[in-house]
Amino acid sequence: MTVSHWRRSFRRSTPLDVGVCVIGAGICGVSAALAAQRRGESVVILERHTLAAGASSRNAGFLMRGAACHYAEAVDLYGRTQACDLWRFTEANLEGLRREGCEALASYRRVPSMLLALRGSGTGLRPVWSPSDEYASSNRAGLERSVTLMREDGLDAEWIDAGSKHPDDAAWRSGLVSCALVNPHDASLNSFELMSMLASKLTTHATLAAKLPSPLIENQEVFGIEPQARGFLVRTADFAVHAQHVLVCTNAYASLLLPGFDDLVKPRRGQMLALAPQGRTLAASYYCNDGSEYFRQAADGTIVVGGCRTYFADEEVGFEDRTTSSVQAALESFARAMLGYGEGSLPITARWAGTMGFSPDGLPLIGPSGAASSPWFCGGFTGHGMSMGYQAAHEAVDAMLEGRAPMFSIARVKR
Ligand SMILES: Cc1cc2nc3c(=O)[nH]c(=O)nc-3n(C[C@H](O)[C@H](O)[C@H](O)COP(=O)(O)OP(=O)(O)OC[C@H]3O[C@@H](n4cnc5c(N)ncnc54)[C@H](O)[C@@H]3O)c2cc1C
Repeated sequence: MTVSHWRRSFRRSTPLDVGVCVIGAGICGVSAALAAQRRGESVVILERHTLAAGASSRNAGFLMRGAACHYAEAVDLYGRTQACDLWRFTEANLEGLRREGCEALASYRRVPSMLLALRGSGTGLRPVWSPSDEYASSNRAGLERSVTLMREDGLDAEWIDAGSKHPDDAAWRSGLVSCALVNPHDASLNSFELMSMLASKLTTHATLAAKLPSPLIENQEVFGIEPQARGFLVRTADFAVHAQHVLVCTNAYASLLLPGFDDLVKPRRGQMLALAPQGRTLAASYYCNDGSEYFRQAADGTIVVGGCRTYFADEEVGFEDRTTSSVQAALESFARAMLGYGEGSLPITARWAGTMGFSPDGLPLIGPSGAASSPWFCGGFTGHGMSMGYQAAHEAVDAMLEGRAPMFSIARVKR
C-alpha cells in the first residue's frame, strides 16, 4: 500500500511505548511475540488484516521435517552440516509446537509424511504433473540417496518400495507411486486452529493494559518504520508505536515495507483445493515431484490437494489472491489420477490461494534488514513456514534481544 502525504500528516494516532514491535500476525509474528513476551518484554503485533490472514491460514497444514528440497539435494546445496542442522531445526519446530499444546487440537494428527517418487509416464501425451521417465528415475535416485544420508546423519527415515509392503490407501492404490521416503514422526493440523491457539496465549504487558485489550492489533497496516535516537517509530493509521526493537514478520510482503527486499523475498502464489473423501483414506501426508504437488487428509476426512504452480511459474508470482483455471485444472487432474476420483464431477468443497515468500537459496532469512541498527526481519520460508516459522521466530527474537548474530543470517545473501 502507498500512503499519501495527507494521511501521513494528519496525525491522530494513539502513541504506544513498547520493547518489541512485531509486524505481521502469521506463524512467525505470533511465535515471535510469544517468545518476546516470555522474556518479559512489552510487545505489540501490528497486523494489516486479521490473525493469520496471510499464508499461515492458507497452507496445507503439513508439519513436515525438512525443506523444499529432499535431503540429498540440501546436502549438495548447503553442505552436510547445514543440511543436518536445518532438518534438526524443523524437528525442533515441531517439538516447540508440541510444547505449546498442538497435540490437544481437534485437527492435530500424528501422521508420517512421505516424499513420493512417481513412476515415469513413458512417451506420448501426459498431464503436466506426470513425470517423464528421466525425471522419475532421477527423483527416485535422489530419494534413495537422501534416505542413506539421513540414516548416516542419525535422522530417522524409512523407505517403502511400491513392490514391497506399503500402506493400502488411495495414493498407493493409484499405481502411480514408485517409492517413498518416510519421515515417521511428522504431524499435520488445521493451521488456523493452531494460529488461534498460539494467539490465545498472548497477554498484554502491564504497561500497556490501560490502552490495549490485547497485544495483537488487527486492521493496522504498517506504512512506515522511522529510526529514532533510541529505537524506532512504527506508524499505522491509528497508532504511533515507539519500539526499542522492531521485528518484521511479513514474509512474502517484505518488499512492500523494507527497502532492498525485492531480490531477497519473492512472492510466489500457491493454490489448493479441498475434496470430500467419499470413503477414501490416506495413511500419510504426501509430498511428490519434489514438493511440486502435495496432499493429505484432515482429521474430519477432507482431502486437501495443492501445488502445480511450477508448471505455470510465470503466472504464479506476485501478491494477487486468486485461484486460476490453469492451476486448478491441473490440481483436479492430479486428484483424479492420484486419489482415484475418476471422470465424474469432483466433490470440491473449497478452492483457495496463498502467497509464500521465497528466499534466494531456500533457507530462512533472519537478521537486520539493512545496517546493523535497522529493523530485523524473519521470513523467507520458501513454502515451509509452518515447519520452520515457530523456531525461526524464537531464534530471531533471542538473537535480536541478545545482540548476537542469528542462525540463517540475512548477511549471507545481502549485497
Ligand atoms: C498454498 C500453500 C500451502 C502451504 N503449505 C504449507 C505446509 O503444508 N507446511 C508448511 O510448513 N508451510 C506451508 N506453506 C507455507 C507457509 O504457510 C508459510 O511459509 C508461512 O505461513 C509463513 O508464515 P509467516 O508468518 O512468515 O507469513 P504470513 O502467514 O504470510 O504472515 C504475514 C502477515 O503479515 C501481514 N502483513 C503484511 N504486510 C503488512 C504490513 N505492512 N503491516 C502489517 N501487517 C502486514 C499479512 O497480512 C500477514 O498476516 C504453504 C503456503 C501456501 C500458500
